[in-house]
Amino acid sequence: LPGEERKPSWLKVTLAASPMLGEVRRTLRELRLTTVCEEARCPNRQECFGSGTATFMLLGDVCTRNCRFCAVKTGRPAPPDPDEPRRVAEGARRLGLRYVVLTSVARDDLPDGGAGHFAETVRALKRAIPGVRVEVLVPDFQGDREALCTVLTSGVDVFNHNVETVRRLTPSVRARATYDRSLSVLAAAKACAPHVPTKSGFMVGLGETPEEIEELLRNLRDARVDLLTVGQYLRPTPAQLPVVRYYAPEEFREIARKAYALGFAYVAAAPLVRSSYHAHEGYDATRER
Ligand code: SF4
Ligand code: SF4
Repeated sequence: LPGEERKPSWLKVTLAASPMLGEVRRTLRELRLTTVCEEARCPNRQECFGSGTATFMLLGDVCTRNCRFCAVKTGRPAPPDPDEPRRVAEGARRLGLRYVVLTSVARDDLPDGGAGHFAETVRALKRAIPGVRVEVLVPDFQGDREALCTVLTSGVDVFNHNVETVRRLTPSVRARATYDRSLSVLAAAKACAPHVPTKSGFMVGLGETPEEIEELLRNLRDARVDLLTVGQYLRPTPAQLPVVRYYAPEEFREIARKAYALGFAYVAAAPLVRSSYHAHEGYDATRER
């Protein structure tokens, strides 16, 4: 791909074939489970699966929104499968996972946005795997506080909602979501369950300025967000927004330094960082405080 050739060297990762990945794939297929790890062919799979972490996609792969950075299909999703929480728990148990991340498309078609389904899955995991930690990476539930609290009181260990980009770019990058609503979702999560660490993340490379990034960091801290992830935006297919700029590894370190200075408990900022990358470390950092 011509675009591939222009990518800086630190973004070119090849994943060695491994028997572990084959094994994981078989288990997922058998239980009809979808992971972001496999779907996005995430370059961190070996590392994550090896350390007992994976990210499951709940509620299907058809989204009711159409964000301009995301390659997930848009359309009318199927009704939730009531057996999915059990299958996720069974899959996580068979794969020996210790830290499970649950996420979903935006289900604006469901009255609770899928919050009840998230809560059921958290509970099923906790029943099936003693000591398992569960992080949820949720859509904004259209700002519905009751839906948020349903998820937060399910026994979840980390609550993650991504703000994705700076204020000015939000309308051109995300569909239907607003910057202020995402911040209020994060603040409301803290109000509903003060003991649950909150987490957010954004991409760089969409045309934001350093000042806008600083504003975003401050806004997240004002919403009392504890954990942060920052990664390079990579265009999934030519149908999505182009990359405006590739940040050098050093620039990510600079963003992390600023974020720590503002008081985040843990920051993962590097070109290939994704929401769930080294997720257990963020959780551990909140325990050490
Ligand atoms: Fe899966 Fe996230 Fe790890 Fe990638 S970073 S392999 S999506 S858990
Ligand atoms: Fe993709 Fe999430 Fe936007 Fe749906 S809401 S298009 S899954 S980023």
